[in-house]
Amino acid sequence: MKRKGLKLTGRMVIMAIVPIIILSIFMSAFIGYSSYRSIYNEVSHELSSVCVSVFELLNHSEQYRLSRYDYFDNNEDMFDSITQRTNIYITVFEGNERKITTTTNPDGSRAVGTRAAAEVVDTVLGGGEEFFSDNVDVNGVPFFGFYMPVTEGGKVTGMVFAGKSRETVMSNITSAVVGSLVLSWLAALAAAFISVLVARGMVGSLLSAAEFLKKISMGDTECVAEKKLVTRGDEIGDMGRSAEKLQQALRSLISNDPLTGLYNRRACNIKMNDMRAKAEEDGAPFVAAIGDIDFFKRFNDNYGHACGDEVLKDVARHLYDGVGDKGFVSRWGGEEFLMIFAVPYDDAVGTLQCIMENIREYRCEYEDMKLSVTMTFGISEYIGGTVDALVNSADNKLYYGKTHGRNCIIENIPEECVEHSS
Ligand code: GH3
Ligand code: MG
Ligand code: MG
Repeated sequence: MKRKGLKLTGRMVIMAIVPIIILSIFMSAFIGYSSYRSIYNEVSHELSSVCVSVFELLNHSEQYRLSRYDYFDNNEDMFDSITQRTNIYITVFEGNERKITTTTNPDGSRAVGTRAAAEVVDTVLGGGEEFFSDNVDVNGVPFFGFYMPVTEGGKVTGMVFAGKSRETVMSNITSAVVGSLVLSWLAALAAAFISVLVARGMVGSLLSAAEFLKKISMGDTECVAEKKLVTRGDEIGDMGRSAEKLQQALRSLISNDPLTGLYNRRACNIKMNDMRAKAEEDGAPFVAAIGDIDFFKRFNDNYGHACGDEVLKDVARHLYDGVGDKGFVSRWGGEEFLMIFAVPYDDAVGTLQCIMENIREYRCEYEDMKLSVTMTFGISEYIGGTVDALVNSADNKLYYGKTHGRNCIIENIPEECVEHSS
């Protein structure tokens, strides 16, 4: 049973967590992708603006027009400080060759004289189109780079490049995305935690229901369902409450006589043994009285079995009400009832006398008849020994009563009759 529970717990936990993990993975991918796209577009726009600015700056510079690419030799600081402040590298190409640039070779020297990648040359110089890529190779270093064609007299004569190292952009993306990712994973974690708690609660209640039903199926009609099971407001709680009803029905079926609702002989024996143990232990009072309806067969014979049943039910009710909380009553067999009193002997006898009087006075109303009923009783107090011995003792007195006029309570059999009656 425990192994099955673990399996169920595992399944419930998987059911609760797997969708959250899948959702989180998709969410992270989406956050990562959309952040990358938005930064990609932003960088493209930023670099294109820088290209245009550089182009316009040079175009309007008299000095540049005069000295062309030597312009940079006298104005190094200008582009270098832009690069330092913005991390945007700038290059002015003549044809395919870097003439003015803030990019460097791997050895740290300015990358003047080096050339652009073939793909860039084809698109910008060959096709006269702008080119942007998130992975252009600038002297072996990956860049987000924007190339703008420079035309003179309708002919592409060079390019302006603005670029940011991929490492710089990626670290920006990472810092933008990490916060969102951490938040979304924290939310997922919280959702998973709550789901697991709920799943565990459900599994716990289901296991408790399974355990309860198992005990009932093994005949334990006294076991108590766990509170957490029967107080649940959901279907699992319904199951627990139904199991409790099943237990009550089973208990009644096992322990009660279906006609009168009184304890049956089996249940009575169990209870008597408990009382005997208690009497042995602390001397608690324990008195047994057995009663039998006088000439009961006549009700059956004269008015039918249904009439006999009515008498049995009425008598059972009188006995039950009469004993009250002083003990209990059982249907011992046919039209015989065993009453057990947990009160001192005299109190039990007094109670029994009241019961006998009540039955005497009562009339069973059957169809349009009023039928009188009497009973004979034998009563004995527990003085040690077995429960069977106690019942036998009371039964012997009942038998004596039956053979000595009926409609009475026999407390003692006269000495001289003991032989005959036992
Ligand atoms: P006595 O005064 O000596 O006890 O005579 P009696 O007629 O009461 O005793 P007897 O043992 O001769 O008859 C008992 C009858 O009770 C026989 C049986 O058919 C009937 N009986 C037993 N159980 C039931 C029952 O559940 N319903 C009905 N209607 N009759 C029952
Ligand atoms: Mg009888
Ligand atoms: Mg009898």
